[in-house]
Amino acid sequence: MGIFDTASTMGHEEVVFCHDKSTGLKAIIAIHDTTLGPALGGTRMWDYADEEAAITDVLRLSRGMTYKAAVAGLNLGGGKAVIIGPRSLKSEALFRTFGRFVNGLGGRYITAEDVNINVRDMEYVAAETRYVTGISSKPGGSGDPSPVTAYGVYCGIKAAVRQRLGKDSLAGLKIAVQGVGAVGIHLCELLKESGAKLFVADIDPGKVGTAVSRFGATALQDNEVYTSAYDVFAPCALGAILNDETIPTLKATIVAGGANNQLRDEARHGKMLREKNILYAPDYVINAGGLINVYNELVGYNPDAVRRQAATIHDTLLDVFAEADRRNISTHQASDVIAERRISSVRAASALRNSYENQPWVRR
Ligand code: NAD
Repeated sequence: MGIFDTASTMGHEEVVFCHDKSTGLKAIIAIHDTTLGPALGGTRMWDYADEEAAITDVLRLSRGMTYKAAVAGLNLGGGKAVIIGPRSLKSEALFRTFGRFVNGLGGRYITAEDVNINVRDMEYVAAETRYVTGISSKPGGSGDPSPVTAYGVYCGIKAAVRQRLGKDSLAGLKIAVQGVGAVGIHLCELLKESGAKLFVADIDPGKVGTAVSRFGATALQDNEVYTSAYDVFAPCALGAILNDETIPTLKATIVAGGANNQLRDEARHGKMLREKNILYAPDYVINAGGLINVYNELVGYNPDAVRRQAATIHDTLLDVFAEADRRNISTHQASDVIAERRISSVRAASALRNSYENQPWVRR
């Protein structure tokens, strides 16, 4: 399928190819949908096997951002950028050149950090454009998003527990956290304060040791995280961990964690979880705290307002669960339905407004 056919099938508005010979910059910016607001999404740097792999990645990731912002109730569209090449290509000139391409889009796309891009890289981008967010060192910057992401995940776990176990408290529940990095460790702290019994897994023994000593967590070995019985399994490490191999072994009642792209195949594995009667909190709904954090940098950062907004993930998830039950579909499909419904209703409203404003007889 050609690029126009793919973009049309996936619903993209604009795909920009950026090239600069002197710096070696090859970047693609994909703007998926700006119905709800400017397209926001990070820039990723990756040494893709070929250009097609880079295009596929940027189209898929930008579409995901549209859905995440829509369900979180943010006035943002979805976008993403990829810079093709190894990290050795990084230079001030490359990022400043990329910044000029971002600037040329006039605010239709707002960028941020993503895989292999650090604050310094983004500061070079920001020297050329104001359409950058998530730079911690900038005055009014939103800082490290992981505490807010973890808080949103915690609120989401409470929603799932209420839905499936009929409880408003996490006290005494067995909760396994896979990956005790930036998000996982903050989540452990909140869960511990709520009286949950914590189990942790991480490939880094030092991080496991920290969780054991700080929160009295039990360390899990190898695949135990997939095979033991928990009330909640909270994946906070890698993507694609819910798949043909792991789902049949799962004994958890609920899967609710912060990792991105947890389902290897969204349709098939979402359905498998539903058939196993495991309540799955869709990743892009429960981990929206990070996006909520950077969005607030754009509208004026206020930590209390951010926390209140992240707490709405609780009720959003209850809506997702209700939609899934009503339609007898997976929770992942249900959140897609909710995102698409919001976008279409706003599009319909703006179409009505435009049909009036665009009339030649309207006095201006
Ligand atoms: P991080 O790198 O700080 O932590 C990830 C942890 O997972 C590390 O401690 C790592 O050792 C561990 N890990 C890696 N492979 C593992 C494995 N096979 N088994 C067990 N542990 C493993 O990353 P993070 O910022 O905490 O993000 C975690 C996840 O949440 C990622 O999927 C990320 O995309 C997603 N996410 C993060 C944020 C945020 O605000 N940081 C926001 C939204 C989504």
